[in-house]
Amino acid sequence: MHQARIGVIGAGPSGLYAVAALLGSGEPVSISVLDRLPAPYGLVRYGVAPDHVKMKSVIRVLQQPFDQASVEFLGDVHLGDDDGVPYGALRRHFHAIIHATGSSLDRRLGIPGEDLDGSLGSGAFVSWYCGHPDHVGLDPLLDRPGVAVVGAGNVALDVARVLARSADEMAETDVPDPVLAALRASAVTDVHVLIRRAPQHVRFTPAELRQIGQLAGVDVIVHDDGQLATAPEPPDKRARQNLALLSEWAQRAPTGKPRRIHLRFLRSPLRLVGDRDGRVAEIVVERTAVDADGTLRGTGEHQSFPVGLVVRAIGYAARPIPGLPFDEPSGTVPNAAGRVLRDGVPVPGAYVTGWIKRGPTGVIGTNKADAAETVAAVLADLPALPAPPEPDPAALRATLRAHGVRPVDWTAWLRLDAEELRRGGLRGAERVKVAALAEMLAAAHSVPAP
Ligand code: NAP
Repeated sequence: MHQARIGVIGAGPSGLYAVAALLGSGEPVSISVLDRLPAPYGLVRYGVAPDHVKMKSVIRVLQQPFDQASVEFLGDVHLGDDDGVPYGALRRHFHAIIHATGSSLDRRLGIPGEDLDGSLGSGAFVSWYCGHPDHVGLDPLLDRPGVAVVGAGNVALDVARVLARSADEMAETDVPDPVLAALRASAVTDVHVLIRRAPQHVRFTPAELRQIGQLAGVDVIVHDDGQLATAPEPPDKRARQNLALLSEWAQRAPTGKPRRIHLRFLRSPLRLVGDRDGRVAEIVVERTAVDADGTLRGTGEHQSFPVGLVVRAIGYAARPIPGLPFDEPSGTVPNAAGRVLRDGVPVPGAYVTGWIKRGPTGVIGTNKADAAETVAAVLADLPALPAPPEPDPAALRATLRAHGVRPVDWTAWLRLDAEELRRGGLRGAERVKVAALAEMLAAAHSVPAP
């Protein structure tokens, strides 16, 4: 076969690991990476916490494929049958399309009061502090001392940490200036992390848990109702490390630092209570118990905390892809080793990788092996896939133009990148993100000075 044309939708870690795997295969491929946003890197840019600088260094690896003439970036391209470039139109340009659009929807608790002002999913809150253009207008309501964060995963820790860190610490990160201003004005003093199971069941990774104990201005207070003393020795190392840390902290008395993160175990949210203005004022929780077989049950004992903001960090689900099957319960696209399945039968030329394929689990590096599996499926199927009617990359550009799209290509992204580095220099940070879409596009499409 001549050069295969592959479309990758989503320029986050899962999509870019797929690009790297395609290039690494040595097969002759020409790849167009499309993203809804004018900037690449997806979750690394818009999900990894701003203070996790080391984790963001993976960008150095993810950007490498764009050095090659056979790989192009096309940002600010909205796909969709209603208000974007229809998938059908895209299909004509590629042998295969790999969907790597992640899990962008927040799961819900399904409790009364969840839609009050001041009740947010972690996706919205994290996107706001990461400078995602969809959430620039979010008012995070940080004007009350109490905040509840629901969940016992690493996202709950990220949110708690960002809320509890000092604004001076956050100024050194890449948060946009308006986010920094909101954090500087924050009245938050007590972050209550509400965990529905016992200390041995948390999904935190020990390194992330340890980090909240090292924050300069924060006391971590463990409220375990005596669970730690009686917790059985867990079989896995991660849980043992978490328990050791939590037990150490449970012995510590608060030292009078300006902010506190409370880890409250065996507490499940029952309802949010609003004030007269429809704003969250209180979260009511039920004390829970975990049976020997792991079943969670309520005890009927209630407790409430005054809070002005509730962030639920209880996991994500993928947005369905128009024209492709979707499995609602798992929030993923049904697939076998990355081949999209409709009623158990592969859909020719359609593939998935990353969170949309396996669900929102694992760390960024997990996507490498996941992408390798999908790419192996693509390469195995290629000889039998029909040649696209319009394989020339110029024809794809023409299709985009015909739909009113002026894509942000790699050179344009580098202009936006340079603007962020320039803003970073003004604040004494490595980078300061540009968050508003119009500003991002203005920087990307600006004509460089001669
Ligand atoms: P997660 O690890 O799956 O944790 C979700 C948490 O929400 C669990 O503790 C779960 O409790 C709880 N939960 C679910 N439904 C609930 C409900 N109705 N009421 C109360 N609690 C509920 O998800 P995540 O924190 O969103 O993280 C997603 C993935 O990204 C994970 O693999 C994570 O490790 C990774 N990540 C990594 C980093 C890092 O490495 N620094 C940072 C962020 C995210 P149960 O256990 O009881 O179900």
